Amino acid sequence: MIDTHAHLDMIKNEEDVKESVEKLDYIITIGCDKEEIYKAVELSKKYDNVYASIGFHPYDVKDIKEEDIETLKKLALENEKVVGIGECGLDYYRDITPKDVQQRFFEKQINLAKELNLPLIVHSRSANEDTVKILEKYAPYPASGIIHCFGGDIPMMEACVDMGFYISFAGNVTYPKADNLREVLKRVPLDRLLLETDSPFLSPQKKRGKPNKPSHIFYTLDFVADFLGIDKEELEKITDENALRLFNKIKQPQHS
Ligand SMILES: [Zn+2]
Repeated sequence: MIDTHAHLDMIKNEEDVKESVEKLDYIITIGCDKEEIYKAVELSKKYDNVYASIGFHPYDVKDIKEEDIETLKKLALENEKVVGIGECGLDYYRDITPKDVQQRFFEKQINLAKELNLPLIVHSRSANEDTVKILEKYAPYPASGIIHCFGGDIPMMEACVDMGFYISFAGNVTYPKADNLREVLKRVPLDRLLLETDSPFLSPQKKRGKPNKPSHIFYTLDFVADFLGIDKEELEKITDENALRLFNKIKQPQHS
């Protein structure tokens, strides 16, 4: 099983990280501010089956400059285990960064992902219309990407799938009130579906209130398999194949 989106550096208990690294096949750890991008790269060096995606979260772009985008580029070029750019995008939920600043740095990171031919990891909250508008402006995306912790509606999902993106669901899809999200889940083409934990946030319902960790992804897998009426082994196989098709820089052990 692969967790396509976790913030390992933010997990307080080192044992939780170790346990998750042992239980999962691969984890993509996300670094999304000036310090975390280095921590993500370090974690990918420390653990064989951890890979990194680096970018600047819309809340953090208020502190960055042009040259920080150059830093991303350099880190990605120098480290084989950087497999994606982001998370980056738009977040109008809290008034932390002015919209125009968010949009400008989203566009710069889109261009960087395209230049490096790496998947783009998109964060979109309360900004779905603008997110789609900007993504459409720069389509197509030969290296594809993920709309992570999907929180949009069916038209947004369809627009993103049309552009070649994968749709990823986190633990919040298991919450009793998330009917709207599950309506979207039902319609996502299976070959574009991904699962993630977004650890240490958004613990699935069975662990709600506790800090999340990648090994909790199995609760989300079970729930989604049940909801879609698919065998959980089968769903695990489908989502893992999707993740490896997207993150094709992940080097899998050769079986003889
Ligand atoms: Zn995240």
